[in-house]
Amino acid sequence: MAEAAMAPDLFTEQELTCSICLDLFTDPVSTPCGHNFCQACIGGYWASTTTCTCPLCKYAFEERPQLSINKVFAVITENYKISRYGNATASSVPANSTNPFVKASNEDVIWCDVCTGIKQPAVSSCLTCTAAYCAEHVRPHHNTPFYAKHPLMDPQQALRGRTCSLHRRLLEVFCRTCQRCICAICVLEDHRTHQTVSVQTERLSKQVRALSTIKDKQMILAELKTKMDGVKVGVFVSQPMLQGAGGGGLPQDSIQSRPATESAL
Ligand SMILES: [Zn+2]
Ligand SMILES: [Zn+2]
Ligand SMILES: [Zn+2]
Ligand SMILES: [Zn+2]
Ligand SMILES: [Zn+2]
Ligand SMILES: [Zn+2]
Repeated sequence: MAEAAMAPDLFTEQELTCSICLDLFTDPVSTPCGHNFCQACIGGYWASTTTCTCPLCKYAFEERPQLSINKVFAVITENYKISRYGNATASSVPANSTNPFVKASNEDVIWCDVCTGIKQPAVSSCLTCTAAYCAEHVRPHHNTPFYAKHPLMDPQQALRGRTCSLHRRLLEVFCRTCQRCICAICVLEDHRTHQTVSVQTERLSKQVRALSTIKDKQMILAELKTKMDGVKVGVFVSQPMLQGAGGGGLPQDSIQSRPATESAL
């Protein structure tokens, strides 16, 4: 296979392209059904699905198969990248890191996860919600008793805590078995047989739970409001009646006077 590695032309770009990220393979792994994906891509794909199937041939695995990086294929892909695109991809990383401005702007600003449209910089990160919030969106965490137990911390520090110490990747997966955040590669290793969801899904379901308690409160409030309105309506109805009665005295008087009128006819 060493000759194959030296002759990248044996493979077409399509054959060296991951069907999940549509980019050339990074750390390619081969599934038992014979398909190749980037390690992080297939890990991320399986992280949020309950059934474990091959994205290409739909072969269903009992559980996530053990995958290790296909080193030969990795070398072939690397050689192809270099022969096709030169060393550009490899050299771009050190070029960026020597520029303090690029580094600063990439690392220092953490954006609010809730803001839509123009994002505001985050001022706090919640470890329970695994989200970063701007000054506006962190407010419920300070004002609402529901969030009282959520630990808030500096977004920079939280981000450092958001990368996997083993794989140096973002902790974008929530392991429901371990009740903690893991990375897409952990999904294929220690947490291979665990129940996992994407952090966004976990955050959403937490928000739905939060919303449903808010809804319960809103329903109680709405109920109270209808009762209050009922009282108010009663007041408003009786007022015109009193006014309508005018000089004729109280409504009771007009009822009492009716038999008198009837007898007069
Ligand atoms: Zn990929
Ligand atoms: Zn397959
Ligand atoms: Zn925001
Ligand atoms: Zn929170
Ligand atoms: Zn990891
Ligand atoms: Zn786990």
